[in-house]
Amino acid sequence: MKEVTIVEAPQGHSGSGFFATSFDEAIGLARSYSLWPLPFATSCCGIEFMATMGAHYDISRFGSERPSFSPRQADLLMVMGTIAKKMAPVVKQVYLQMSEPRWVMAVGACASSGGIFDTYSVLQGIDRIIPVDVYVPGCPPRPEQIIDGLMHIQHLAQNEKLRRRNTDEYSELLASYNIQ
Ligand code: SF4
Repeated sequence: MKEVTIVEAPQGHSGSGFFATSFDEAIGLARSYSLWPLPFATSCCGIEFMATMGAHYDISRFGSERPSFSPRQADLLMVMGTIAKKMAPVVKQVYLQMSEPRWVMAVGACASSGGIFDTYSVLQGIDRIIPVDVYVPGCPPRPEQIIDGLMHIQHLAQNEKLRRRNTDEYSELLASYNIQ
């Protein structure tokens, strides 16, 4: 007769027919696999996002296939492309219109640091106006890199405390970016 090895489940977490976890972890898991991205694409990096959304790379595998073009129905702001200084107030306004919890991804060199456009008219990175959670390098980044960035956001969403964004620490961070 074949020997069966029974692995002891951690006490108080799972067993035959049930699984228990903390409220934070359950919410974090749900959030991380139901992110609604708002693609703020101004130039070439946006084309890579289109590829990321297509069937080949299939971002729906990560629960993020539903792009939202209303900031009020989005929780992940993906900024892709060159942001001119004249455009900066619009990016900030879009960010402020998103409700908590919200995350921000700077996709590509231009959104992260201004990229090759080191000129008077281009914002040298969106973190000068809004807090950024994940930077995706590249000019442009490949879809695999964008997905990697998304997975980092998922990791943040899954592991942060339910009310992290309401802490004094986060308020101070917002204040340092001059966002009210
Ligand atoms: Fe275009 Fe490169 Fe800037 Fe992306 S990082 S918007 S590919 S110039």
